[in-house]
Amino acid sequence: KTWVQCGVSMKILNALKKHSYEKPTPIQAQAIPAIMSGRDLIGIAKTGSGKTIAFLLPMFRHIMDQRPLEESEGPISVIMTPTRELALQITKECKKFSKPLGLRVVCVYGGTGISEQELKPGKNNILTIVPVSSVRYIRGKNCRVMRIVDNVRPDRQTVMFSATFPRAMEALARRILSKPIEVQV
Ligand code: AMP
Repeated sequence: KTWVQCGVSMKILNALKKHSYEKPTPIQAQAIPAIMSGRDLIGIAKTGSGKTIAFLLPMFRHIMDQRPLEESEGPISVIMTPTRELALQITKECKKFSKPLGLRVVCVYGGTGISEQELKPGKNNILTIVPVSSVRYIRGKNCRVMRIVDNVRPDRQTVMFSATFPRAMEALARRILSKPIEVQV
């Protein structure tokens, strides 16, 4: 598959070329069209397989297809990760595409203050990256993932990516995903 066959826009295509992402990896080739079809998805693939771009590109497509957000709205997209390191890594990858698209990415994690200013939506859409407690803590009734998900509109599109799929994650997937497609490479 080529990027064009995956349904990416010209602006994204240019950014991909600029960063020498010549063609989709196997997880990208499978997951990108599936997520772009609007379905929820569970993606299981090893670290280094290109998972990040597999969910970022459909996310950008989805955002660009929506009307721009009003001042009082947003963020339009939330990415949750188990660690700060991963959040920063995803943010860095995200910025390669958000900048040419005129979108803002905000990386949020505990231990540092966030000024109101930083989180103000402005006229551009905001993507917020919120690291949450790691999978082994997900089971708790008041787990942070559920608290966030419960506050997102019910017609949201939700995708989960992981290198493994332990029991605790299965339970979470059942709660937050709706008829997900499963992709494993
Ligand atoms: P990830 O599995 O998302 O952590 O990605 C692993 C590494 O592969 C990152 O450094 C990406 O920048 C890189 N990468 C992701 N997709 C591609 C691609 N299609 N072509 C070349 N490199 C890629």
